[in-house]
Amino acid sequence: MRPPGADTVLVRHADVGVKSGKVQAQMERRLRDNIEALVDDRCIDATVERRWSRIFVHADPESVDAATNAATDAFGVQSASPALVVPAEEDAIVEALARTARENREAVGDTFAVSARRAGTADAHPFTSKDLEEAGGAAVWGELPDPEVDLDDPDTTFSVECRADEAFVFTENRPGPGGLPLGSQAKVVALMSGGIDSPVAGWEVMKRGSPIVPVYLDLGDFGGPDHEARAVETVRRLADYAPNYDMRVRKVPAGDAMDLLAEAVGPARMLVYRRFMYRVAEHVAEAENAAGIVTGEAIGQKSSQTARNLGVTSMATDLPVYRPLLTMDKPDITELAREIGTYQDSTIPAGCNRIAPDFPETNATPEIVDRAEPESLYERAREAAENLTLV
Ligand code: ATP
Ligand code: MG
Repeated sequence: MRPPGADTVLVRHADVGVKSGKVQAQMERRLRDNIEALVDDRCIDATVERRWSRIFVHADPESVDAATNAATDAFGVQSASPALVVPAEEDAIVEALARTARENREAVGDTFAVSARRAGTADAHPFTSKDLEEAGGAAVWGELPDPEVDLDDPDTTFSVECRADEAFVFTENRPGPGGLPLGSQAKVVALMSGGIDSPVAGWEVMKRGSPIVPVYLDLGDFGGPDHEARAVETVRRLADYAPNYDMRVRKVPAGDAMDLLAEAVGPARMLVYRRFMYRVAEHVAEAENAAGIVTGEAIGQKSSQTARNLGVTSMATDLPVYRPLLTMDKPDITELAREIGTYQDSTIPAGCNRIAPDFPETNATPEIVDRAEPESLYERAREAAENLTLV
């Protein structure tokens, strides 16, 4: 539900507001550019403007809904509202509120409230926000068949944001992902298996402003044929949130290394595999100037992810290994994957399961993995990273 004729999207940013003035301005410009890219990518006819620490998307009444959805897909956006812009005059505002109620009678629900905010000094307008709420409330009341006010938990809130010359009238507050604008932090290499977890982990760091460099290890005979497709597809879905970033999958040939591990390594095989993976990621990070590695690991989710094993595997790289899902339960991760749109209803196990030994090491020490690691492992990781292809 929105005011008739609404053609502007009011965008509120999330954590950007806690920054100092200069950093905030930089982040707002980045957010503006990212929203512009989303709007362009979806062929929405709209322009994006940054004004008074707000972002506005100027669309038309036909495209304002799509423009609002595009804005709420931008990392760093707290919420967005499709709004009608009217002169900052009491009559015009009250009339807009009345019209909004009149044309949305069915959608208002049982209860409503009017909430008004004014920017600027007390004498900036000849009316107060309370005046607007009272006059606006009476006008809305007059338009509804069976009006009832509920200031605590209304079905519909008619909102007014009044600036020096213009006022914005809106009824909807669509949530965005929150966080920081993409690109406001350094890139990180994202290890993407095509499973449920890794795209969620990638999304989480993107939400905090880090673009990802997606890396998929092709495990050769130890990977299933669908794995690559799933990895590529889930990354494409993430790329929908970031059309102005290079999200091509870096596909790394790891089949030979897996053959070697399956042959030469016993209970610590999965840990050695993980260490190989981090080393590959480290080489890619170096080439791409990325600041860390992100994975979908969580404490205890698999034998290679026990609290002790996570520590020992991380030691293979000097880069920080970020694990945003570390403490999350699988059902919650799955729920998030559904919300983000990366969830695939598939029961095909990840390829790495097939190289898992029957009795995996769950309590590794650096000495155990050192002893288990084939001498050529890190050289192979470098070679594999050098031979990556873009998908
Ligand atoms: P996911 O964790 O993505 O749902 P999964 O649970 O089957 O898949 P795990 O064995 O839990 O995979 O792997 C832990 C993490 O290691 C993954 O989240 C991912 O970051 C990384 N990873 C596993 N396999 C691959 C691969 N083939 N290529 C790149 N990264 C991988
Ligand atoms: Mg997992």
